[in-house]
Amino acid sequence: MNLDYPITYVKGISVQRATLLYTELGIKTCNDLLNFFPFRYIDRTNFYRIKDLQLNSSEVQIVGKITNVKSIAQKRGSRLVATFQDASGSMELVWFRGQKWIKDSLKINTPYVVYGKLNHYNGFFSIPHPEMELVSEYKKKLQTKMQPVYPSTEKLTNSGISNKLMRAYIQNLLQQFYDGIQESLSYQIIDDFTLMHKRDALLNVHFPKSQENLAKAQYRLKFEELFFIQLQLVRKKLINKNKIKGFVFKNVGDNFNNFYNKNLPFELTNAQKRVLKEIRKDVASGAHMNRLLQGDVGSGKTIVALLTMLLAIDNGFQATIMAPTEILANQHYVAVSELLQGLNIKVDILTGSVKTKKRREIHANLEDGSLHILVGTHALLEDKVKYRNLGIAIIDEQHRFGVAQRSKLWMKNEMPPHILVMTATPIPRTLAMSVYGDLDISMIDELPPGRKEVKTVHRFDSNRLSVFKFLKDEIAKGRQVYVVYPLIQESEAMDYKDLMDGYESISREFLAPKYQISIVHGKMKPADKEYEMQRFVRGETQIMVATTVIEVGVNVPNASVMIIESSERFGLSQLHQLRGRVGRGADQSYCILLSSFKLSAEAKTRLKTMVETSDGFKIAEVDLKLRGPGNIMGTQQSGVLNLKIADVVKDSQILVSARNTAIDILQDDPNLSKKENLPINKAFTKMSKSSKIWSNIS
Ligand code: ADP
Ligand code: MG
Repeated sequence: MNLDYPITYVKGISVQRATLLYTELGIKTCNDLLNFFPFRYIDRTNFYRIKDLQLNSSEVQIVGKITNVKSIAQKRGSRLVATFQDASGSMELVWFRGQKWIKDSLKINTPYVVYGKLNHYNGFFSIPHPEMELVSEYKKKLQTKMQPVYPSTEKLTNSGISNKLMRAYIQNLLQQFYDGIQESLSYQIIDDFTLMHKRDALLNVHFPKSQENLAKAQYRLKFEELFFIQLQLVRKKLINKNKIKGFVFKNVGDNFNNFYNKNLPFELTNAQKRVLKEIRKDVASGAHMNRLLQGDVGSGKTIVALLTMLLAIDNGFQATIMAPTEILANQHYVAVSELLQGLNIKVDILTGSVKTKKRREIHANLEDGSLHILVGTHALLEDKVKYRNLGIAIIDEQHRFGVAQRSKLWMKNEMPPHILVMTATPIPRTLAMSVYGDLDISMIDELPPGRKEVKTVHRFDSNRLSVFKFLKDEIAKGRQVYVVYPLIQESEAMDYKDLMDGYESISREFLAPKYQISIVHGKMKPADKEYEMQRFVRGETQIMVATTVIEVGVNVPNASVMIIESSERFGLSQLHQLRGRVGRGADQSYCILLSSFKLSAEAKTRLKTMVETSDGFKIAEVDLKLRGPGNIMGTQQSGVLNLKIADVVKDSQILVSARNTAIDILQDDPNLSKKENLPINKAFTKMSKSSKIWSNIS
């Protein structure tokens, strides 16, 4: 007997039912069925005496005998009523459906275990449609006090595969195959974490003997699930490190030093210094760097990117930085060029709107090596773009680029350039471990000093007039203002109307020539957008009305007020990104979240969170709790969604232990060839073969 056998080997499962279980739930082998876990349990640890029944005890279990059964006519049809007694008193069992069949099968004066939802009617307690089992049968079964409830589908229920039947199948399976269940963790791990053995865990997750056993079984199975995922990710990372050679940037040269000593306009924060050290260690090691740099909006990722590029240049390499939009690429280009003034480094920019002649020039300079840094958008990925010796590729705001694009950068060289992916959408550490477990992660978890927190308030639409008044006061002080409207694809037409209506009402309130207003949205031509953006950047307009196009990262330090219209329609991470557009200068900044009066509970939580905190990681945690991992950027293709029993949010502690264990084991025994790791090796090989372990991004 082998757990890989099809489930028709389980007593009671016909070919027809096996087919149904496969099409409905994907259960094919005995192993699949064994790993089909209950989603809840009915606690049947307690038996009640009829005398002790309380109106509020909702689901109860009682041992007693039926003394009498009768049909009682009612308005429509009839009901079947059985009198049920124990030594302490009597009550009723009631059926409305299937009366004839039930009446025939009930045994009088024979002990039953009865279970169900308690009703109180006409001074009598009753249970409608109880679950019943003869005490003699009950005693024969696997003794379990907690009853498993399995996920099901309508089709299964309609075809007679009830929860009771599922229980029976799995019980049979366990009885037939119990001895064939093999341990998949090493004794060391089992000892270290006092885990339940695999057999017991599987038995107890289906038929727990007690709450305590259930908890232990679940812990063991969650640990195992997360452990094998981490084992795969960590292994992949180690293999890449060993196999994939990387360029060695061994010198810290003149460019880096001159810049650091002369051009650096401020002192780096400790977090920036730490991250830079991590990167320097990577690029000097001879292995290929594949690193994710997480840092909140405004945490100063650009300077880290720049210093990294200087390292590359000092070692004779070129560098590139890719941004998701033209506006953002431009901003990087301007920032980098300004910072590098006085150094002998050539920087250029390549986007979709660069004219052919200029484009050719860039191509040529890239190939002969005279161009050191190329900033750009997707245009960088075109085949014509060939570097002489690209040493590092930096990707900003990574969630906007797909996996395929990332690897396209890789393909450009014989030896892949080092990769640094920067993201301003922090994801919680534990989620990052699952989604980006094969990348190294650096975090800038500290903002530059002197940054004032953006004062954030929530106001209802009805307060708009006082909000306008506030805007006028701020503009009078020389500040600039963003007014942002939501743009959701499904309701695009409506959203554009809202935007235009909003623009008009603002134009009426803020009259020219005193006030100048820019408007930017996705339907405008790139050149017009650019023109409007630039007017705002130069300070010629005081108000920027926009859809979320500005989300991606414009930098206008003088803009200190952000109004978000219909803020209840934005997601948390989006709100956080938007707010990051202000608070970049020395002045006190403000974010005003406008919303209608009617708010869902979730929307309330989002707005409240925004008002209470500006910590991107905290916000990401709340976001994760509200939406689940499936909706967080970048997690879609990853396996965090296919977990059978663990939960990346709730089981983050287990995840951390599982990951550390995987790291320890692989460091000690990279090929899992030591005898004590044999069980792990076997299970791992099997999982990899059946691709039960998902393949990760990149
Ligand atoms: P982001 O991480 O969002 O890309 P930026 O790199 O654009 O952030 O930095 C935001 C602002 O903070 C910039 O104006 C930058 O010059 C400034 N900045 C970055 N690091 C420091 C620092 N260590 N001290 C002071 N200001 C800094
Ligand atoms: Mg940035």
